[in-house]
Amino acid sequence: MSTRAQQYDAQVLRREQLSPHLVRLTLGGPELASFESTGIPDEWVGLIVPGQFQSRYYTVRSWDGAELVVDVVVHEVGLVTEWAARDVGGDTVTITEAKGSFAMPGGAGWLLLVGDLTAMPAMARIASEVQVPTRIWAEVPDDLSSYLSGDVTWLVPPSEGQSALAEVVESIDWPPGEGYFWMAGESAQMRAIRKHLMRDRRLPSTAYDVMGYWRGVARRQPRSVDPGPIWRAGKAAGKSDEQIWAEYDEARET
Ligand SMILES: Cc1cc2nc3c(=O)[nH]c(=O)nc-3n(C[C@H](O)[C@H](O)[C@H](O)COP(=O)(O)OP(=O)(O)OC[C@H]3O[C@@H](n4cnc5c(N)ncnc54)[C@H](O)[C@@H]3O)c2cc1C
Repeated sequence: MSTRAQQYDAQVLRREQLSPHLVRLTLGGPELASFESTGIPDEWVGLIVPGQFQSRYYTVRSWDGAELVVDVVVHEVGLVTEWAARDVGGDTVTITEAKGSFAMPGGAGWLLLVGDLTAMPAMARIASEVQVPTRIWAEVPDDLSSYLSGDVTWLVPPSEGQSALAEVVESIDWPPGEGYFWMAGESAQMRAIRKHLMRDRRLPSTAYDVMGYWRGVARRQPRSVDPGPIWRAGKAAGKSDEQIWAEYDEARET
């Protein structure tokens, strides 16, 4: 283990270009052997790349007890994206302990997943681990048809770095009965969708989980804020998922 608890140094064992904008990194090494998965299918870790101190958050696409796989979106500028765009095989990175948010009620008879490219790892893992009938809307710039299977509606972003997911969600024909809605993507879209679910659909907060995974602002870099402590404190205070993720969005803006 590193000197700081619950951080693990890991080596990049393999780098694979899955599509023009998505890179798969397989991490391993002796320290990683003590990594503990939460078992929650949208679990994420903080990733600190060489020469940096700030972390960025990435979904654990898979963990088999020895190798941890993350799929990284390659966009224009950023700490991780610029590093991951290079031949990073053999580099040593640091990852933080895993946290998860997905909490489908026991009585849910269906699941809806909506997300952009950053949400693909979580949606793929959730879809493969959850047993109820699942519909997926994926807004991605690349052909990733082999990445996700099942009932998937593929959508193309209106332009690079843009998303129309809020409109997509407003037009969903909602299934009857109790179910669960999980969504992640650009933060402004997510805020609009939380309002829609609360005000128009009047869903109880236990019926959905809507997370801002990144902020599409060019004027200022978003603050890197670990969702973990906000999540734990919110849960301990009995707050709903949407309150917690709204607080996470606010924390990154201040
Ligand atoms: C719980 C959680 C799980 C996540 N899982 C994943 C995952 O599995 N894979 C993944 O790729 N991302 C994931 N993300 C999103 C990722 O953490 C952010 O996109 C992060 O900002 C990327 O860091 P960076 O160093 O590349 O860019 P930064 O240095 O953070 O940002 C630089 C600039 O790039 C812009 N930017 C950031 N992300 C994007 C993007 N995706 N597309 C276009 N512009 C962007 C910002 O607005 C900023 O202007 C997750 C986020 C959270 C909170």
